[in-house]
Amino acid sequence: MNCVPKVLRGAVQPVVRALSTTSFAAQKPAEDVASGASFSFELSDTQKEFQELARKFTREEIVPVAAHYDRTGEYPWPLVKKAWELGLMNGHIPEDIGGLGQGVFDGCLIGEEISYGCTGIGTAIEGTSLGQAPVLLAGNKEQKKKYLGRLLEEPLVAAYCVTEPTAGSDVAGVKTKAEKKGDEWILNGQKMWITNGGVANWYFVLARTNPDPKCPASKAFTGFIVEREWPGVTPGRKEINMGQRASDTRGITFEDVRVPKENVLIGEGAGFKIAMGCFDITRPPVACGATGLAQRCLDEASKYANERKTFGVPISHHQAVAFMLADMAIGVETARLGWMRAAWEVDQGRRNTYYASIAKAYAAEVANKCASDAVQIFGGNGFNSEYPVEKLMRDAKIYMIYEGTSQVQRLIISRAIIDRAKTL
Ligand SMILES: Cc1cc2nc3c(=O)[nH]c(=O)nc-3n(C[C@H](O)[C@H](O)[C@H](O)COP(=O)(O)OP(=O)(O)OC[C@H]3O[C@@H](n4cnc5c(N)ncnc54)[C@H](O)[C@@H]3O)c2cc1C
Repeated sequence: MNCVPKVLRGAVQPVVRALSTTSFAAQKPAEDVASGASFSFELSDTQKEFQELARKFTREEIVPVAAHYDRTGEYPWPLVKKAWELGLMNGHIPEDIGGLGQGVFDGCLIGEEISYGCTGIGTAIEGTSLGQAPVLLAGNKEQKKKYLGRLLEEPLVAAYCVTEPTAGSDVAGVKTKAEKKGDEWILNGQKMWITNGGVANWYFVLARTNPDPKCPASKAFTGFIVEREWPGVTPGRKEINMGQRASDTRGITFEDVRVPKENVLIGEGAGFKIAMGCFDITRPPVACGATGLAQRCLDEASKYANERKTFGVPISHHQAVAFMLADMAIGVETARLGWMRAAWEVDQGRRNTYYASIAKAYAAEVANKCASDAVQIFGGNGFNSEYPVEKLMRDAKIYMIYEGTSQVQRLIISRAIIDRAKTL
């Protein structure tokens, strides 16, 4: 079981409330805040303890080995196990099945710290939360106890299998299919770009269950929990990606996989809503990861700018460099506010889709700008793998792609604005 310090076990945030706020829940109006009295940037003592624990773990355990995992592409099992032992993973699992019941905000505080050390290792540690999200959101008591409980018993991870070779942004194009045969479903298809694909103990799999092309996406798909060890499940080779190389990304083939009806989430036809609803709780964590990377860029670049001299002075004395640092700081601070707002909204029991998309799109772009500027400040050294910033630049790009591209986030944001404008 988790060896979480007892004091931290009291860290209870209403995760169940948070989860009930995705697209299934009605939107609650914000309470009127007459003065700034109920608004605070202050973290609770427990939040500070978790943040400090994650920071220490990152500085002592992740930073020293990040380059090794980037170079080798090995999956960082020792770090995943350590994070699990420290209680830095799975915090969102509800208390009634033995978890900490943390909110999204608390998870993001930890996620930002870990991502500061290495976002590849961060994705290896955090990717399991995406796999678990459909079960948290839509699982019944038995499913939660069996599959989330398993992740508390030993350091195992889950994965989220939606994307396919021909269907990424356009999720309704998913071709993997499941056919009902008695008390089982027979699953066939091919998934692509699955984080933790080769190391997960179980998967959430989205499959088409209504072959009628006229059937709306909201009814045509079903979500399944599929175990890695079941016959017919075959992960492909590990993909060699531009960045975040410690993370395990693979295609997975499902060939005549027999899935018992007990492993259907909610029921036939509910899959699309479940798969999309997850993003309200998983995009703030992606945004906090990008923020952690951006903060690392700022720290590396400002340290270097004070050390490196040109024309007889540290380069930080050149206004062109100092202003780049200032712009990076503006990005980091505002990206942090973005994930905090998105995470806080969902923890209050309110629909946060709009804020989650803003936070994700913005933090991804801040991370990429900060990484590019950090490389610029390092000059030739920035282009070289002996220095830390070229890795940051390679690692940053994926934030604009996975969990919905920056263009898809803008679709969501613009639709919300246009709908709102109809009510003005
Ligand atoms: C490292 C990595 C890890 C991943 N992990 C997972 C995972 O764990 N589980 C999972 O299911 N998936 C995962 N993905 C898949 C990821 O979510 C998709 O790659 C992403 O959603 C984009 O889909 P696509 O690659 O098919 O691009 P496409 O959908 O083909 O998009 C190509 C381009 O067209 C743009 N575009 C597409 N449609 C529109 C539109 N309507 N308007 C404007 N622009 C548009 C996109 O923004 C993009 O720039 C991962 C991907 C990578 C690379």
